[in-house]
Amino acid sequence: MFPAASRLAVVAALFPGLLAAADPAAHVAPTRPNSGAPTASVPSAAPVQHPASAASSRLASLPIVHLGGMELIGLRDVAAMLGWKMDWAESARRLTLTGNGGRVELTSGSREVSVNGLRLFLGHPTVQKSGALYLTKTDFQRELMPLLEPSLLGPLLGRPRTVVIDPGHGGPDPGKENLPLGLKEKILTLDVAQRLKKLLETRGYKVVLTRNDDRQLGPDKQADFMARWDIANRARADLFVSIHFNSLYPDTKTSGTEVYTFTRAGQRSDKGWGFSEKDDAETAPAEVNRFDPWSSLLAHSLHREVIGSLKTYDRGQKTMHSAVLRGLNCPAVLVESVFLSNDAEARRAATPEYRQQMAEALASGIGAYADALERLSPKSPAPTPKTSPSKT
Ligand SMILES: [Zn+2]
Repeated sequence: MFPAASRLAVVAALFPGLLAAADPAAHVAPTRPNSGAPTASVPSAAPVQHPASAASSRLASLPIVHLGGMELIGLRDVAAMLGWKMDWAESARRLTLTGNGGRVELTSGSREVSVNGLRLFLGHPTVQKSGALYLTKTDFQRELMPLLEPSLLGPLLGRPRTVVIDPGHGGPDPGKENLPLGLKEKILTLDVAQRLKKLLETRGYKVVLTRNDDRQLGPDKQADFMARWDIANRARADLFVSIHFNSLYPDTKTSGTEVYTFTRAGQRSDKGWGFSEKDDAETAPAEVNRFDPWSSLLAHSLHREVIGSLKTYDRGQKTMHSAVLRGLNCPAVLVESVFLSNDAEARRAATPEYRQQMAEALASGIGAYADALERLSPKSPAPTPKTSPSKT
């Protein structure tokens, strides 16, 4: 595993242009709330000669098209670089890329993409120009590329060993509720987190929970979020997963699963694209934005396992300006598992069997992410399981 300092150096070496703005002082930028976080002790990135330079130079070889203030990358160039097959369909509106890493479908003018059958929302709609399809450099490098071709990330963070699991809400903050069924989000998230901790410990990970009982971690919500970052950052977490349950009252029909990463700098969140919503893009990157590509890879792994196991409706991989993710110094994902406002899903969530299934899916997703990183960093061996492998 790379220590935090060299981890940041790796990120800087891989994405010199993109991360130039992500210097350690960026977290106190006046445009962002939550400045003065207890996570100010982020080590500065020392220049390193990194073996990922081959991947880096392949990325740098992609031509950039400037349009309307955006930096765009052509999918034709991406296909050529990866050696992937490219097909247009539906009167040249839908583009499919197929290669060793899977199948990606994009639509002209849309943010929605299908990656190996899973829904993913880009930070900006694709752009069609002169018969070719483009996406923003940020979307390509920080969201899609890690899923299409993780080898372009180079020998990055090493296999994760310390996992921080964050049961959402707690204490005076119950989170979402289904009052007729007597369900509180804070109780369900803690139960899933404790189940997940056991599963991961069996597999040899060091696991830290941000809370292990029904409490708020600070005098108010903001202090609570900052305390959660602090726990993860002090533990030198290799990844952070925040567990939540969703609600859309008075809508009781909506169901399904969403996975979120922190919105990439300069892009709107998914909410920011909603009808009559304002552009909520933040210019300065948050601490956690340093790990955007790895957060996307982690989100995709969790997404695939949760949808595959629970068979919930796929509401997609999305982004938000999540206060609990903002100050983290590691790849981080927030999972909105199912809707408590939908009685059918809430009844399932109320059963220990379902929560165990959810914990197992999350453990599998973390395992798949860890395996992907290990394939890229063969020098970091898998953790040694404490006991024989679980029966599942
Ligand atoms: Zn929540």
